[in-house]
Amino acid sequence: MSVLTRDEAQTRAQLLDVHHYRVDLDLTTGDETFGSQTLIRFTARAAGDTFVELKPETLHSALLDGEPLDVAALDGNRLPLTVTEGEHTLRVDATMRYSRTGEGMHRFTDPTDGESYVYTQLFMEDVQRVFAAFDQPDLKAVFEVGVTAPEGWTVLSNGITEQQPDGSWRAAPTPLLSTYFVCVAAGPWHSVRTEHAGLPFGIHCRRSLAPHLDADADEILAVTKACYDRYHEKFDEPYPFDSYDQAFVPEFNAGAMENPGLVTFRDEFVFRSAVTATERMTRAMVIAHEMAHMWFGDLVTLRWWDDIWLNESFAEYMGFQTVNEACSDLFADTWIDFGVTRKAWGYEADQRPSTHPVAPDPEAVPDTASALLNFDGISYAKGASALRQLVAWLGEKDFLAGINIHFKRHKFGNATLADFIDNLAAATDRDVHAWAEQWLRTTGVDTLTPASKARAPAGGCTSTGTAAARTGSPSASTTGSPTATSPSASATSSTSRRRRPSS
Ligand SMILES: [Zn+2]
Repeated sequence: MSVLTRDEAQTRAQLLDVHHYRVDLDLTTGDETFGSQTLIRFTARAAGDTFVELKPETLHSALLDGEPLDVAALDGNRLPLTVTEGEHTLRVDATMRYSRTGEGMHRFTDPTDGESYVYTQLFMEDVQRVFAAFDQPDLKAVFEVGVTAPEGWTVLSNGITEQQPDGSWRAAPTPLLSTYFVCVAAGPWHSVRTEHAGLPFGIHCRRSLAPHLDADADEILAVTKACYDRYHEKFDEPYPFDSYDQAFVPEFNAGAMENPGLVTFRDEFVFRSAVTATERMTRAMVIAHEMAHMWFGDLVTLRWWDDIWLNESFAEYMGFQTVNEACSDLFADTWIDFGVTRKAWGYEADQRPSTHPVAPDPEAVPDTASALLNFDGISYAKGASALRQLVAWLGEKDFLAGINIHFKRHKFGNATLADFIDNLAAATDRDVHAWAEQWLRTTGVDTLTPASKARAPAGGCTSTGTAAARTGSPSASTTGSPTATSPSASATSSTSRRRRPSS
């Protein structure tokens, strides 16, 4: 299978403008495979050669503008297309395989009661395991998803779903989304539904966990609503989707995934026995983290995977900060937990030979495979620490003003680190570009080196004051660095050591 390179993605984004996907999935064909039909409407800005991606069990047919393509031309995960300038439709009919690894369409049968559940995890390039797509984050489109499911199942998706007279399910069309955000979760879910701010909110889990979800539903929904309200105080753009579902799904690989309107969580977050206060706080923080992504990640999406840190650092920072602000009645200071657990993760990753800048050079992330290597303590914890430092330095008011400019300029589109920094710079007089160079483009933890010299006449050895050096960093000797003017820097010890406020 070929991995997509940044150069290929740029070339395809110049050639194509993708408008609309109609995806129909048939989940009634057994427990090994499912049916997948895709109809894509797109425009080619010029005549040229390109490709669509899919990883089928069997590719039955592909029609470009009604003309059959040779299905034997499928090369790994790429079906070549030759297009003329103008509007096109591509119709693909395939059989796809369920996964048992949490990638693509995962299928799980609950040993407790024999009930089966499926859900998608399409991050990075796993959409190709479910339907045919021009699979890169900056080819956003409207998605309309239809699902044929066994009787007795509920189908959840990004948009509000409704059962049709023939028994199948249709989800409302989405706003413009990146391919990796499409989500379907189907099965005999146990659901707790409510409404907040005029939108349907739901939490869902497999039936065998129903008593445990019910026991915690009040807390989960209280945290969800409090964070939702707090984000609307911070952000000018309203929540961009038509519903907010949170599905606790079995055998999930990560902590959670920020699918617009349908966040998936590992179902270990449905607690089955007494847990510590920290575990409850962690669940609340993950709820807040994923909700932050609805704006930062889903509404405004990275253009290429080199900026994944920006998604994750922002959501990590916002997750801890927002639970602190919105749920102080439930949890003690979340930043203590961050300092004890998450930062240690960041420090550790940053002292290994494999460390990398928080914001890697785009050349260092040439393809999707290399992007995956950056999901570590640097992209999450160190990046969040850097952002927290940035907020302390800029002041929250200017930081949020910059964020709101960013959302307004790029909503339902894509943006880069350079866009983010430019938008912050529009809201402050401070040199955010220099800050980014010094703190996001360097590697390694700070090393503080005291410097002193003897003064003979006084008959003793006296410290001359200053001297923390950030080894390995271009800012080591820069007295005008952002940290020097940060609130914490002015509260340093009598030896005037410069320190990172949040490190
Ligand atoms: Zn995240």
